[in-house]
Parts: sequence; C-alpha cells; structure tokens
Amino acid sequence: MTSTQDQSPDQSPDHAPTFPFDNSYARLPDRFFTRTRPTAVAAPRLIRLNENLARELRLDPVSLTSLAGIAILAGNTVALGSEPIATAYAGHQFGGFNPSLGDGRAILLGEVVDAHGIRRDIQLKGSGPTHYSRRGDGRAALGPVLREYILSEAFASLGVPSTRALAAVSTGEVVLRERALPGAVLTRVAQSHIRVGTFQYFAARSDVDAVRALADHVIARHYPEAAAAPNPYLAMLDDVIARQSALIARWMNIGFIHGVMNTDNMAICGETIDFGPCAFVDHYEPDKVFSSIDERGRYALSNQPAIGLWNLSRLAEALLPLLADDKAVAITSAEVSLGAYVRRYEEAYLAGLRQKLGLVEPHADDPALAQDLLDAMAAAGADFTQTFRRLTELATDTSASEKLDDLRKLFADTTAIDLWISRWLARIAQEASTPEARAAIMRRSNPAFIPRNHLVAEAIAEAVENDDFGAFERLLQVLSRPYDDQPESARYALPPTPDQVVRATFCGT
Ligand code: AMP
Ligand code: MG
Repeated sequence: MTSTQDQSPDQSPDHAPTFPFDNSYARLPDRFFTRTRPTAVAAPRLIRLNENLARELRLDPVSLTSLAGIAILAGNTVALGSEPIATAYAGHQFGGFNPSLGDGRAILLGEVVDAHGIRRDIQLKGSGPTHYSRRGDGRAALGPVLREYILSEAFASLGVPSTRALAAVSTGEVVLRERALPGAVLTRVAQSHIRVGTFQYFAARSDVDAVRALADHVIARHYPEAAAAPNPYLAMLDDVIARQSALIARWMNIGFIHGVMNTDNMAICGETIDFGPCAFVDHYEPDKVFSSIDERGRYALSNQPAIGLWNLSRLAEALLPLLADDKAVAITSAEVSLGAYVRRYEEAYLAGLRQKLGLVEPHADDPALAQDLLDAMAAAGADFTQTFRRLTELATDTSASEKLDDLRKLFADTTAIDLWISRWLARIAQEASTPEARAAIMRRSNPAFIPRNHLVAEAIAEAVENDDFGAFERLLQVLSRPYDDQPESARYALPPTPDQVVRATFCGT
C-alpha cells in the first residue's frame, strides 16, 4: 500500500491546518475500501467554514480558511496523516438490491477524536471519481451541497442526530447534470459513515469474517456497552434498532421526509445521512412525497417508520451468521429484536407528541388526541410547524382571543380544530404542571423555524444563478436558533405562498 500523505510545497507552515487523524477504518482489511486520492479542482474558493464545528473537532478554524486549508477542503492537497479511502457498501435502492454501491463521489479523509472524546469521520463529498463511481463523475453540484449544508446544520440546532457540514467549497468547475452547473465539495462529518448497506456488502458475498470484523468495529466505536452483553452482536442489533427508532420518531415529530431511505442511506450510528431530495412538510399531508424519483411513494412521510423496520430487517439478515450457530435460533433472536422496534418507535413518537402538546402526565387517550389534531390539520390544509407553534403560544394564555385566532387562521375549515381545542384545553386543565412549565416544554419541542423547502430553494437559486451567498448565510443564521422567536425574521417562519411552493426535489447530487 503506498503512502497517501502529501505535503504541498505551497503550504505556508504557519497556516497549514493539522488534523489529529487516527484512522481506524483504514486499518480494517483491504476489501473494506479502496485507497483513493481526491481529484484536484481548478479554482477552489471557500463558501463557508463551520467554525463552531471545527472547534468541536479540535481543528483550528483560522488555518482551515488559509489557502492551505482550503486546498485540503477542496481535495487539492491531502493533509498530513490523512489516509484517503472510498468505502465499499451495497444497498437496497427502492426495494431492489444492488450488491456494489460504495463511495462513488465521496472520499473519507480520516477520523479525529472530538472535544467530547467522540470519534468523527471527515469526508469530502464531490471530490472526484473513485473505484465505485462506475458511470458517475464523482462530483457534486453547488445546489445539493448547499442543501445538505443547510439541512445538516438545521438538524444540529433542532437537536436531531445528523451528519454535519464542516465546510463548502466551490470548485471553479462545471458539472454536467440536466444542464451545466457550478461544482462544489462538501466536507461532511459523521460519527461514522457505516451503513446498513456496508453490512449487506459483505453478507452478499458470504464473507462472514468481514461481517464480524465490521460488527466488532461498530461495537468498539458506537456501542461499547454491547461488548459486555451475553451476545454482543445481538446487543449491537438492539442498539441500532433503538437509535433508529428514536431517530425516525424525531423526524416524524418535526415533519421531515428523508426522501431516499435506501439501506445504503441508513447510518449504523443513528445519524440522519444522505438526505438528498428531502424536505419538511408545510401543510400536513401524511402521504406527502417529495422526491421526484419516488414514483410509488415508498418513502412518503407516513411510510418512514415502516421503512425503518424494513431496513433494519435487512441489517438483521446480514448479521444472522453472527447471532447464533444454529440458523433457526439466529432467526428467532433477530425476530425478537425486530419485534421491539414498533414498541420503541411508538413510545418515542408518542413521547415527542406529548411534549409538543405540553402534556407531562401520560393518559391512555393521548394517542387519539394527537392523532385527531393531525387529522384536523390534514383535512383543513393546516401548516404542521405553525400549528404546533401557535398552540405553544396558547399554553400560557389559554383565553387570549387573538392567539386563538392565529391558530384557527391556519385551518381552511375550523369546525374540527375548534372541537379539538376545547378537548385540549380540558386535557391540560387536568395537568398538575404550571402553564409556564408547559409552555417551556412546548417551546423547545415545537420549532418556529425549519428549513422550509422554498427558503432552501431560494438560497440555492441566488447562489447558483447570481453567485450570491447572502440568502444562504441569512437562512443558516435564522435556523441556528429554531426554537427562539425571531420577530425580525418572521418571514422565515411562514409557509410558502402558492407560487413559492416547491413540489419536488431532485437528487442530482
Ligand atoms: P445516494 O444518492 O447518495 O444514495 O448515492 C447512491 C450511489 O450512487 C452511491 O454509491 C453514490 O456514491 C453513487 N453516486 C451518486 N452520485 C454520483 C456521482 N455524481 N458520481 C459517482 N457516483 C455517484
Ligand atoms: Mg447514499
């Protein structure tokens, strides 16, 4: 294996960033990845560095914005200690199995241990072709890079586990999609990029040794407590199921549609990943689909919990040889673990809904109360995020008629919501908690600001068409405090007007 380290002669030593790399994945067997250097780009220009994240990763933001730093973020220079690799994985895409996917447009530079002691991958996305690119160019267009940057950082501020964006760099090159578009590279950070599809890759090749080596790596890295369990691999499966059920419940609580929940887009660490054609719902529609390629609605909003279980079942299948020597015993164990998914999901989802409704004490009819509100929203075209936020404002002041009107205004027909509000008022009157405590819970469960599709589209259009990143920066600013009222930014809280509605988002990364 050749050394992948490179010190570019034009690096000024006092500015060149140092990364405290410790690359555990690159120490796994050779068949887990292909060593691949990023392909240099013509004219790298920093769009944005995420300074807070850089500090969290124990990286120096100043040196990252130097020419030497930007060269690394663009893939023009390989940092000292980096061992760039493209990783192998497989995956079920829209239900059909593809045994050979892999990082076709991403290169893992290495891993650092962050300020909290957590190991994080640093990956370039859009950094040129790899062994796994096949017909693709390995590049990313500016629009999807900005979308991923905005969404990742919005998730972080919303408190939902997600991969992060450390930087975006434009390349000065054009990528050919439906038309010629400006190119960009995203620096993505994840607890790891190991996917359900990574396990499937080795399982599909009957490479049980590799499945075991990967599971051992995952346990050591993400689920160390599983190592002490009677059956560590089963405990790991349970842990992944726990994190994914909690994650998908969070998505459902904020109205997020991932868009492409293929098994290669489900991270073993429990972070939201690879949200290409994703979106938040505006007016609540349980069957809402955003991805232009999801013709049959496989990944519709309300299908996501069931797809989560489907994907985890594929993970369990890949792990069967590790679960028990006897296949029947292994299958029974896996079924028991998977059987817990629905209960775990329902509990997490309901706990989230209770918080959104300001309910502290659980009652048996809470699920019905919550569902009836969702049904009223769906029937009357009410905006999901605004409905919960207006309800939050009613919590401290249940008799304020203008606040009540603000909520009712969201519903084209108020019959159902009027009835529902009287039920909710009766219900919260039974709670021992104070209105202030209730409002505080609701305020941190019901964001005022989400990355609405039309705002993301507007920020991307300004950048792509006019090379103007002002709207991108302003949107990031607003979304960094999603639970705070920001009266000066009120327009960012509003649903789209009919002519602003974005009906579908495209992959095209
Ligand atoms: P995704 O849409 O991120 O789930 O990607 C699905 C698969 O297609 C992955 O294996 C990607 O690496 C690959 N892929 C997507 N876009 C490109 C591209 N522009 N060049 C090469 N491979 C790509
Ligand atoms: Mg993917």
